[in-house]
Amino acid sequence: MKGQELTRLTNIWSKVSRQDDRPVSRVVIESTRPLAYQLRRINQVVALTIDQAVPNMYCDTLAVYDGLINEITVQPEESNRVTVFITLNHQAPCAVSSTEGLPVRTFFSFDRAYLSDLFAERRIVIDPGHGGRDAGGRGPVDLLEKNVALTMARSLKNLLEQVNAQVWLTRESDFFLPPQERLGLAREKRAHLLISFHTNYSKDSRVGGLAINYNPAHPAGRHLAQLICTELVRKIKRTVLEIKADKELTALGTVPGLKIMPVTISNWVEEGLLRNPTFYEKIALGVMNGLSRYFAATQVQRYSGDTRV
Ligand SMILES: [Zn+2]
Repeated sequence: MKGQELTRLTNIWSKVSRQDDRPVSRVVIESTRPLAYQLRRINQVVALTIDQAVPNMYCDTLAVYDGLINEITVQPEESNRVTVFITLNHQAPCAVSSTEGLPVRTFFSFDRAYLSDLFAERRIVIDPGHGGRDAGGRGPVDLLEKNVALTMARSLKNLLEQVNAQVWLTRESDFFLPPQERLGLAREKRAHLLISFHTNYSKDSRVGGLAINYNPAHPAGRHLAQLICTELVRKIKRTVLEIKADKELTALGTVPGLKIMPVTISNWVEEGLLRNPTFYEKIALGVMNGLSRYFAATQVQRYSGDTRV
C-alpha cells in the first residue's frame, strides 16, 4: 500500500475582490491536492492548520494591509503540518470555497462590510494639487507634480468609493484652479474631510521622504495626520520629514483638512517610484487605513447625532 500522499502548498496570495456582490478580502492558497484544514480564531488572528501538507514555496510573512487583512504568515510545523496565520484588523466572517483542477485553489473570503459601514456616507473632497499652467514641482527626469497629484487623487477616489464613501475631486483633468475654489468645494459639499495631494520638493536631490500638513483649526487635525502618516509609512516605507500645521488650511474652518506629500519628487529614487502604477495603490491604501482608524475612533460621536468628524 502506498502511504498517504502529501499536499504541497505551492502559492499563497491575497486580493480584494467581490463575492456574491459583496466586497471581500480573499486569501487564496494553491496546492496540489484539496486541503484538509482546521480553522481556529484567536481574537483577531485566524489560524488554518493544514494536515498532511508541506510548503513548496518560500515561507515568510506577507504584509497585506488592505484595511482588513494585515499580515499572512506561513509556518511549517512538525509531522507534515503547516499553519497559516491570518492577522485581521478587526473581526470579520469568513466563507471558504475551492476550485478543482491543478493547482487546487482554496479561497478564504473575509467580509469587508465593516469598512463599508465605516465609510458609508462619509463626504470626502480630494484635491489634486496644482494644474494647468501651475505644474508644481518637477522631478529630475521631468515628472510633474500636477500630474502625479491627479493620479494619487484618482486612485484614492476609486478605493474610497469601493467602501461606499462619497467622493469629489476638485479637478478631474489638467487645468488651473485657484486655492479658494478648492477649499470652497469642501464647504459646498459639506465635506467631512479634505485631502489635498502634493509632492514635497527640495533643491538637494538627496533629500527624500514624506510630509503631511494639517488644518490646526480642527482639534483632531494633528492626530489624524499622525494616523495617516503611520499607515502610509507601513505601505510605502518612506522617511517622515515632518508633520506640521498649515495656516492655509484654516480657511476650511473646523473641517479637517490634510495636505499629503507622500514623496519628494526632486529625489531620483522617489521620482522613480512615481512611475510605478502599483505605488499609487499603496499610497491610496495607506491613506484609507489611516482614515479607517480615525473614523473607527470617532464613530461614537457619529452615532450620537454629530455627523461632523
Ligand atoms: Zn505642491
